[in-house]
Amino acid sequence: MARAGTSWGRWPPVGEGAQRVLPLADRTTPLPAFDGTALPYGNGRSYGDSCLNPDGTLLAARGLDRFIAFDEASGELECEAGTLLEDILALAVPRGWFLPVMPGTSLATVGGAIANDVHGKNHAAAGSFGDWVRELELLRSDGSRLRCSPMSNAELFRATVGGLGLTGLVVRARLQLRRVAGPGMSIETRRFRCLSEYFELVRATATSEYRVAWIDCLAHGAALGRGVYSHGDHAPGGVPAPSVRQRRGSVPMELPVSLVNGLSLRAFNRLYYAAAPARPRRQVVHYRPFFFPLDGIGRWNRLYGPRGFLQHQCVLPPVSEEAATAEMLGRIAASGQGSFLAVLKPFGDRVPAGMLSFPRAGTTLALDFPFRGQATMDLLEALDRVVMDAGGAIYPAKDARMAPAMFAASFPRLGEFRQYVDPAFSSAFWRRVAGSPSTETRGQA
Ligand SMILES: Cc1cc2nc3c(=O)[nH]c(=O)nc-3n(C[C@H](O)[C@H](O)[C@H](O)COP(=O)(O)OP(=O)(O)OC[C@H]3O[C@@H](n4cnc5c(N)ncnc54)[C@H](O)[C@@H]3O)c2cc1C
Repeated sequence: MARAGTSWGRWPPVGEGAQRVLPLADRTTPLPAFDGTALPYGNGRSYGDSCLNPDGTLLAARGLDRFIAFDEASGELECEAGTLLEDILALAVPRGWFLPVMPGTSLATVGGAIANDVHGKNHAAAGSFGDWVRELELLRSDGSRLRCSPMSNAELFRATVGGLGLTGLVVRARLQLRRVAGPGMSIETRRFRCLSEYFELVRATATSEYRVAWIDCLAHGAALGRGVYSHGDHAPGGVPAPSVRQRRGSVPMELPVSLVNGLSLRAFNRLYYAAAPARPRRQVVHYRPFFFPLDGIGRWNRLYGPRGFLQHQCVLPPVSEEAATAEMLGRIAASGQGSFLAVLKPFGDRVPAGMLSFPRAGTTLALDFPFRGQATMDLLEALDRVVMDAGGAIYPAKDARMAPAMFAASFPRLGEFRQYVDPAFSSAFWRRVAGSPSTETRGQA
């Protein structure tokens, strides 16, 4: 488990002791008294500052990790909000069920998945996490305990899904799982030579549930946007699980410098691209390496060294997706600050589950950058401008620096959302993008 009080990117740094951490263990008790403002904390798998609350209190929810009920006939699962998604899969897959929406890590909690309304590689087919939440229980700072669902307290439900932990503490949730025939995934992989080829592949494979691409963001000229594309579906039959050793290697210590630099990136990108098949190759693989390629390397965020890293994830609407993606990749290649993980996925055209849900029709591009001071900030701001001009949005779960104007442009229902924010809850992210007070609100009634 990450130390409560850090985010996955480890930027911005928050000094030890800057936030009071209150561990929660019992879903039936009222919120503990706290000083300043409070913010729920799941497993710290958000990259930026949406899970941080310096000068305030973190309500550390990982201790709320009990299963409450599982109906094996209908696939409805009720659990506490600190339950990890990987624990749900461990329970559900042997019984023929799966989470309908899985982010790229299984180490997020249910509460964190709701608060960011996380998406997977199958947004067009399955929507986002909130689409599968049948009910949640919310504890507010005035002592109220509210059951929220699409039918009851519906607006508070829609504010809480994607609500960044600001509407109260989710203590438990009822989720609808989907049927699978086993742990296997039938996946076809191939490399593509440029960006327009990626968009052709996405269109040609629209019947596959899962679609995702890795991009070599150091490539330029005619090779701009080249990468490796995978698409596929759940498959019947047994597949061996990766061994524990394969699953749980770890970066053992703090590294004094980032191992992610121009040289290592160039070498990795060349090798990864060259190793991918030029023609489609289909394999049946276990779901873990397909969904969570990085979970096998514990604390891989340490590879970026003590200064941490920033992620930039945007969504670009269909009308501008190809041109804007090309422009962003062009700027990154020209800056020499390549991203190790550069991922493209299509999003479907669906009604968002929450008021501040990030997924919407178009293409999402996610990029990691080691923090190198002002040069990194300048590049990310330039990328923001491309996103803004294209009519896109930035994902708060990955953000540590977007300007209030970018946030407002990304989330048109922000004004409506504000009325559901618990007055005693806040975060570093929220104060930065929405100008909310940090300390004038005082603990619970
Ligand atoms: C390797 C990797 C891959 C990822 N891939 C994806 C992806 O494909 N798609 C995607 O959407 N995201 C992805 N993410 C981001 C991650 O899924 C989200 O940031 C998720 O919200 C993290 O959950 P957490 O439990 O760690 O929550 P935290 O990071 O601790 O908190 C996230 C937010 O949830 C709130 N919160 C936490 N618990 C509760 C609760 N009980 N009640 C109310 N609010 C709560 C917090 O206040 C905060 O605002 C990825 C992250 C990593 C590290």
